[in-house]
Amino acid sequence: MELDRVVVVGASLAGLRAAEALRTEGFAGEVVVIGAEEHRPYDRPPLSKKLLAGEWEADRIQLRRPDSFDELDVEWRLGRTAVAMDLERRAITLDDGTTVGFDGCVVATGARCRRLADQERHRHVHELRSLDDATALRAQIASGDRHVVVIGAGFIGLEVAATARALGNRVTVLEGGPAPLVRGLGAEMGAVVGRAHAAEGVDVRCDVTVERLDKRGVLLDGGELIESDVVVVGIGVEPNTGWLEGSGVRTRDGVVCDETLRALSDDGTPIEGLYAAGDVLRWPNPLFDEEMRLEHWTNAAEQGAAAARNLLAVAADAEPEPYAPVPFFWSDQFAHRIQFLGRSSPDDEVVVAAGSVDDGKFLALYRSGDRLHGAFGFNAPRWVMKMRSSLADRASWDEALGVAGGFS
Ligand SMILES: Cc1cc2nc3c(=O)[nH]c(=O)nc-3n(C[C@H](O)[C@H](O)[C@H](O)COP(=O)(O)OP(=O)(O)OC[C@H]3O[C@@H](n4cnc5c(N)ncnc54)[C@H](O)[C@@H]3O)c2cc1C
Repeated sequence: MELDRVVVVGASLAGLRAAEALRTEGFAGEVVVIGAEEHRPYDRPPLSKKLLAGEWEADRIQLRRPDSFDELDVEWRLGRTAVAMDLERRAITLDDGTTVGFDGCVVATGARCRRLADQERHRHVHELRSLDDATALRAQIASGDRHVVVIGAGFIGLEVAATARALGNRVTVLEGGPAPLVRGLGAEMGAVVGRAHAAEGVDVRCDVTVERLDKRGVLLDGGELIESDVVVVGIGVEPNTGWLEGSGVRTRDGVVCDETLRALSDDGTPIEGLYAAGDVLRWPNPLFDEEMRLEHWTNAAEQGAAAARNLLAVAADAEPEPYAPVPFFWSDQFAHRIQFLGRSSPDDEVVVAAGSVDDGKFLALYRSGDRLHGAFGFNAPRWVMKMRSSLADRASWDEALGVAGGFS
């Protein structure tokens, strides 16, 4: 395959890491990066933490030093959205009507917040995905005397709750499930995090259903009105794949790829030169024998680079590498550091293998069949990280317990 021009769609973490990897791997052709936001690539985790708290300003969250952008020798098309892809002509159409041809392409369009009905109509209702979202929300909670209602006790919702509470606001979290973070941690460990919020004065209400947004606040199923000054909707994200509709690229809650991150066509065959990375992508992770779509920082960074390397490898008739990481994410809420390695599923057995919940420092291991599936650390960063090799080596449950038994 002739590879003269690579187009990266999405100018955030995965897209930037893809562009950087193209250059560090020696690609000398043209690189064009298309990004819907006006901003240069910036880091999202601080948006719900230090930036939202007012401790950091936007210049602290740049993903590359401003003076080092030129070194990459990339053509940035910022403030431009890709609206269609034509695989036959190998061209992408932008929202200003122009087209950009490509030999290779990395799709890194990430995800956007799910919304409630009529959300846009209410000025006091916010979401948090972008720097602009964070700036708008910060202005509403900075005074510390508001009632902030967060809908959804996922990671972002809980981080917003913690930051808003630490600023002095009254905070209520509304969650439809039996505990916070059920999807990420399971109900038992999710409840531990919920109790940590309650201890800081956050009112965490589980098993509640939001009927609709109201100009006075949030109306629950059953008629209760929760009056609030600020509402934050944190009910998850959906991958930005709409622009690929009708292109022949297979999408199913994400761009569907093979083990090497190469996108598949509608009929299941890999598409030459087309790769994906980050929150937008779903692929079969051979280490866990499971198809997954991750919404974690480390994955987006590593996958961006891996997609670029595999694109270059195939163009050079070399073997691409399957992408087989141990998934990892962290979350900071109040003074607590939450970390998770591997996977969790509702059927997993969960055992506290080191430390104790009562002491506020522990490691919990997740068991699936006879295998270690995941490791959750609550204020226990060293212990969590020591489980990485067990997960990478597909350790048995007994082997994993043996490793954790040595922690003190
Ligand atoms: C508030 C917040 C806090 C977080 N905290 C943590 C954390 O503590 N730990 C952790 O592990 N992860 C965290 N994450 C998740 C992490 O930031 C994401 O996994 C990561 O940003 C994904 O990067 P990405 O490049 O795949 O996608 P994104 O960061 O979503 O970027 C995609 C980019 O593509 C652009 N785009 C979309 N469609 C188009 C189009 N058609 N044309 C052109 N451009 C387009 C978007 O505007 C966006 O700029 C957090 C995320 C948020 C929002």
